[in-house]
Amino acid sequence: MNENTIPLLAIVIPCFNESDGIEETISRLSQLIDKYKKSEIINNDSFLVFVDDGSQDETWSLIESSSIENNYIKGVKLSKNQGHQYALLAGMEFVVNKCDCMVSIDADLQQDENKIEEFLASYKKGNEVVLGIRNDRGVDSFFKKLTALFFYKIMNFMGVKIIKNHADFRLLSNNANKSLLKFEEVNLFLRGLVTLIGFQTDYVYYAHYDRFAGESKYTLSKMLGLAIDGITSFSIVPLRFITFIGFFVFIFSVVMGVYVLSIACFSNSFIPGWASTVLPIYFIGGVQILSLGIVGEYIGKIYKETKRRPRFVCEKTIE
Ligand code: UDP
Ligand code: MG
Repeated sequence: MNENTIPLLAIVIPCFNESDGIEETISRLSQLIDKYKKSEIINNDSFLVFVDDGSQDETWSLIESSSIENNYIKGVKLSKNQGHQYALLAGMEFVVNKCDCMVSIDADLQQDENKIEEFLASYKKGNEVVLGIRNDRGVDSFFKKLTALFFYKIMNFMGVKIIKNHADFRLLSNNANKSLLKFEEVNLFLRGLVTLIGFQTDYVYYAHYDRFAGESKYTLSKMLGLAIDGITSFSIVPLRFITFIGFFVFIFSVVMGVYVLSIACFSNSFIPGWASTVLPIYFIGGVQILSLGIVGEYIGKIYKETKRRPRFVCEKTIE
């Protein structure tokens, strides 16, 4: 990228039931884009894409009406709720080859949109991937902080390279976007994939605000799902862990077997140990069920991947 060329920017915003705050988001991002166009930071054809992830409220009609007023507002409507990662993917697919670079940002204005200027400056210096990193987790609930901490610790333990405090607020050059789209996995965890594509990468720190309106759309089950997808699509450590447990349980049972046999053969002392019989049954039963669950999790993933089903279904678009 030449420092003097003016890039065509696309901003992708996944939205799920965001009608409470989306007008404010549209207006703030429109102002931002106008300002950048005027000061020639971005090309005049730069645009916004709102991806409606199957909202049940007024989100889509609000996107539609603002797209009539402003032709740089575009929309993608998914036919049903697919989840944040897939909504983002739909947006990435929509903008690929239509822009020089794209920025993804949440619809709730929790991420400081003014940092996009820094993203662009970094892009102009030659960085093809610019990742937004949260300064702190001040506004998060104790529960969210705790689960995030736990998640990073587990990922670290599993040997998954993941960038701490990077959500999906990032800039991708068209090239980087194209490369990410080549990963055709159904179990999508973009934050992990972004570290796999390489490219010259830069980091920009941003403040994380309270949600402008509405409630978090990441329910506990969605958060858990994202964490499990993140782990199982990037790491086979849990499977190896089972092998280790299995190995130690096996050694233990051999030792126990020898011990019990030798007592039975060489001593006439009665073994009263109810516990020593029942405990291993519980223990081994528990280990087996846990192991089956983990193996099942991976088999489930393989099952899903082999079907190669479309990862989202787009109902309509506003071009
Ligand atoms: N989102 C989505 N589909 C979903 C859940 C969330 O498109 O199934 C969007 C949501 O509208 C927002 C972004 O993903 O723009 C992040 O979600 P949210 O702010 O609710 O998550 P949190 O910030 O609480 O982690
Ligand atoms: Mg949010």
